[in-house]
Amino acid sequence: MACWICATCGTQYKEASDPPSTCPICLDERQYVGHKGQVWTTLLEMQQQGYENIVEEEGPGLTAIYTAPKFPIGQRAILIRSPQGNVLWDCITFLNTATITKIKDLGGIAAIVISHPHYYTSMVEWAEAFQCPVMIHEQDQHHVVRPSKHIKPFQENEKLIIKGVTALRVGGHFTGSLVLHCKLEHLGKPFLCTGDTVMVVPDQNPQGWVSFMYSYPNLIPLPAQEVARMRDQLAAWDFDRIYGAFKGQQVESGGRDAVIRSADRYVGILNGSIKRRYF
Ligand SMILES: [Zn+2]
Ligand SMILES: [Zn+2]
Repeated sequence: MACWICATCGTQYKEASDPPSTCPICLDERQYVGHKGQVWTTLLEMQQQGYENIVEEEGPGLTAIYTAPKFPIGQRAILIRSPQGNVLWDCITFLNTATITKIKDLGGIAAIVISHPHYYTSMVEWAEAFQCPVMIHEQDQHHVVRPSKHIKPFQENEKLIIKGVTALRVGGHFTGSLVLHCKLEHLGKPFLCTGDTVMVVPDQNPQGWVSFMYSYPNLIPLPAQEVARMRDQLAAWDFDRIYGAFKGQQVESGGRDAVIRSADRYVGILNGSIKRRYF
């Protein structure tokens, strides 16, 4: 018996003697099955293959955790350290005792909040290791493939996780896609963690830029009105930095303006009010 892991999206399934026949997360058009077809692994096999997690300071009070070599989407989890308890934003598949020890030395995890199903990964392993809840939006809970008492779906569009840390359901990429708004005095200006609900893009000059997609690997955009709605929802919040899904992916300052400006560009190009030269 094993909890099989899809090697394309990193989702861990409930215990079974044989791997599932398919991965519904990858069959969805927001993901993909690779050219070699469906491939499965396990945490034990990953340990034997030499995977490890890098746990490093990301900024004041923030710790990034990601797997090396990259596996499979390559996102980072971010531990937001707070006197009220630490919150883990998003999750990664690989977990071993060295990672658990390092995070416990940082004060452990009071709650895990996950932006969307692509990062559900092995959330139940993490929840069991740290004996903490996993907060997801109930609009996406039908994507859970390893049920657990630790998973706590919520209905609200604004869910207070701990004092100063609020999960906002802004939708878009998935109906229940979340961002995490953090306003913690000891960490300076308010900031936003976005996963790929709001994607921090490579072009950050001279100002910050982000984007929004229904599918990132398959480059399927969101409708203009959906992006405008996300813009208006986020514009009601004050935030400076934006931490995206991947290492080094930050809007360094002016995050709220970056969201508004980027959404306006996106909507303008889709509806034709902004003209681009295509030659
Ligand atoms: Zn998959
Ligand atoms: Zn995604």
